Amino acid sequence: MTHSVDDVGLLESLLADPADPACLEFSKDAMLAMGRSVLTRAADHIANIADAPVRGDVETAAAEDYCRSMREPAPALGTPLDGVLASLFEEWVPRSFTTTSPGYLAYIPGGGLFPAALADFIAGTTNRFTGIWQAAPALVQLEANALSWIRDWMGFPDSARGLFTTGGSMSNFTAMICARERHLGTEIRSGTLYASAHVHHCVAKSARLAGIMPDRLREIPVDKDFRMIPSALESAIAEDRRSGRTPFFVVSSAGTTNTGAVDPLETIGNICKREGLWHHVDGAYGGFFHMVEELRPLLAGLSEADSLTLDPHKGLFLPYGTGALLVRDGAALRAAHAASAGYLPHMSETGEFYDPSQYGPDLSRGFPGLRVWLAVKLYGTERLKAAVLEKRRLALWAAEEIARIPSIRMVAPPQLSLFAFELDAPGLTRELRNRATEALLENVTRRGRVMMTGCTVDGRFLGRVCVLSFRTKRKDIETCVEQLREAAREVLGGG
Ligand SMILES: *Cc1c(COP(=O)(O)O)cnc(C)c1O
Repeated sequence: MTHSVDDVGLLESLLADPADPACLEFSKDAMLAMGRSVLTRAADHIANIADAPVRGDVETAAAEDYCRSMREPAPALGTPLDGVLASLFEEWVPRSFTTTSPGYLAYIPGGGLFPAALADFIAGTTNRFTGIWQAAPALVQLEANALSWIRDWMGFPDSARGLFTTGGSMSNFTAMICARERHLGTEIRSGTLYASAHVHHCVAKSARLAGIMPDRLREIPVDKDFRMIPSALESAIAEDRRSGRTPFFVVSSAGTTNTGAVDPLETIGNICKREGLWHHVDGAYGGFFHMVEELRPLLAGLSEADSLTLDPHKGLFLPYGTGALLVRDGAALRAAHAASAGYLPHMSETGEFYDPSQYGPDLSRGFPGLRVWLAVKLYGTERLKAAVLEKRRLALWAAEEIARIPSIRMVAPPQLSLFAFELDAPGLTRELRNRATEALLENVTRRGRVMMTGCTVDGRFLGRVCVLSFRTKRKDIETCVEQLREAAREVLGGG
């Protein structure tokens, strides 16, 4: 971008002290005007989200060229906001998956609740230090409140402590560190860890970061519904004990990313109790279904876990960037993170007041609690629960309707709000069935209203639908079903 004298003049007219060459403060009028520009763009964006192509314009070869053309040195002089907003909202945002679209049924959908954006704006402008309780006691209390609300929804005891993280991956990692500290101390090399073959890939990544090498990870087989087989877990633990290893950590999934399978949490929890192992539940996708009383039986055993990963940016519909972790014995979370230094205020010993830096790896940090707190505060719990319940009901209905399409076979019916299926026709080999299912998803996604992605399980390519966007409503599911029906005909008819 080139700069005209006018641009420089424009910037100066917005600054609080135009004569000061190092002034970074905007005048109050300028802040209001700039805020209005951003807000207008954002509100227009949201109001038109349903019309945006759901996959966005991300064709790889074109994207590569486009990104190359974007490279530029740091600008020596300032640029007016309006031009930058135009590029962002008209050029760059449209070149991405429309993850906030009502038709986004791919991967695990994220959210994007507006109150969270307001909270981020407030957090950014006030920029208070929430790493240490003393620096912002009342604000940190809001974060503690938000964590305790989640704790109550999940049926964890008062002794539990939690942490807002950047996502489910970091929550799983932090849980593993707590368990490692408690069970292995310095004897890390002998420790062994157990998870189903369908566990999220971040568990293996976390293990590596936690100093637990791949040869200490045990992949437990799953049953026909893709749930961990408890007897296989028991055998693997026994086998490791016989070899002189120290089994210490079991991860079960409260909803796998592949097919949405919920492992038998209660049975696995009981095995862990008997064996003295730490039971971690990865509820990054499925945990928030526990908010809804009538759905709790689907997640029986979740409340008994030693730790639980949640992703408010999935099941609580927040924008990306907020994960959560609950640890049943709050002292274990604190023991793994407590630290002090001569330049810091004295930390509270009573534990009555939550001190984020004593429960997590960050010192300076954003204010993740505010976005959770403000969203819950503005909507109220009942409305959020109704939205979670609605997503499950929509998924059940979608699965029922899709199973009626003659050439589609349901492979994994929804346990929560995610299900998997494949396209099949007489005489198709495995390879052709995989290609047909892939073509089916592509056919629908290309139409622009509904986006689905698949997964490969034991050499089978499966189509998936995950209903978790708060914007997804009955009419979007109707579109999905209708387009799948047409696409199935086209894909099989076209050979
Ligand atoms: C999304 C997900 C993760 C990873 O969470 P991020 O927030 O993407 O880091 C882990 N486990 C499961 C089951 C998930 O669905």
